[in-house]
Amino acid sequence: MNPLIKNTLSIVIPTFNEEGNIEILYSKLIETLTPLELDEFEFIFVDDGSQDRSLEIVKKLAIDDPRVKYISFSRNFGHQPALKAGLDHAQFAGVVSLDADLQHPVELIPEMIEKWKNGAEVVYTKRKDVSLPWFKRTTSKLFYRIINTLSQIKLEDGVADFRLLDQKVIHALRAYKESNLFIRGLIPALGFRQESIDYTPHKRFAGETKYSFSKMLRFALTGLTSLSAKPLYFSIYFGVFFAMLAFIYGLYAIYVFAFGHETIPGWTSIIASILLIGGIQLIMIGIIGIYLGKVFAQSKGRPNYIIAEKKTNND
Ligand code: UDP
Ligand code: MG
Repeated sequence: MNPLIKNTLSIVIPTFNEEGNIEILYSKLIETLTPLELDEFEFIFVDDGSQDRSLEIVKKLAIDDPRVKYISFSRNFGHQPALKAGLDHAQFAGVVSLDADLQHPVELIPEMIEKWKNGAEVVYTKRKDVSLPWFKRTTSKLFYRIINTLSQIKLEDGVADFRLLDQKVIHALRAYKESNLFIRGLIPALGFRQESIDYTPHKRFAGETKYSFSKMLRFALTGLTSLSAKPLYFSIYFGVFFAMLAFIYGLYAIYVFAFGHETIPGWTSIIASILLIGGIQLIMIGIIGIYLGKVFAQSKGRPNYIIAEKKTNND
């Protein structure tokens, strides 16, 4: 089969404790894809160390339908590694990635395919959020504002990992040997013909969000530090700023000494500046630590994921 013939599709689905969603997602996908008369398609469920019946359900589907493939991790590695594993194993000409919880509307896939067949090589989607919880909406806005200030690549708020990629884009992506993945930051930098579609997300069908606050925070930090090295330079700016303050304060001290009428107790200002500078130093060490940790992981060449078992076409 020639993968360049644009009539075959892989669907990649990172799955972590989604037992209540898999079957309905499967039937929705079948319902949507069947009328499109694709030559071939496959679903790759990437089970990210689920502790519920997710893998069992996927395996059952795979017995009845050979188009269902799966990759099962040895433990929970996270959404991005799961997505990467799916993309690594997807064999067809177009590859759609979407969440297992039905928040990403399956009905959008025909439109994505249409744009792809008309020449787009990346069809990404932009969430028009009305229903998102206030906290998630605000933190997400803040995150994109910071990331866009810091990095050259502009990321759009609401663009997540629901997209169609041409196999040649995935080929380019495979050359990135990053150990801390932030895939949505890499895609805009790849180039290629990119087009977008707006959509309104559905409510999560079953279960709860698998992105805990700490996972979200880690994801945000990974994203920031993977797209930009600017935070490392903060210490220089802070340093210059406070050196100037100190200089001015020094001039003032000399002035008081020369013309002063009173002795300055000074204790308060010393304690205040020690605390302030100490705090800033800790923040800076923390920032350096994040990058150092990344260099550490990368230099060890640790894999992004470990597969315990799988059934894909590349076996
Ligand atoms: N997910 C995963 N590993 C994780 C967390 C999430 O594979 O450690 C999957 C999850 O099953 C879902 C997708 O990533 O298919 C998005 O997660 P979720 O819907 O919980 O995130 P939210 O939509 O709340 O941001
Ligand atoms: Mg979700």
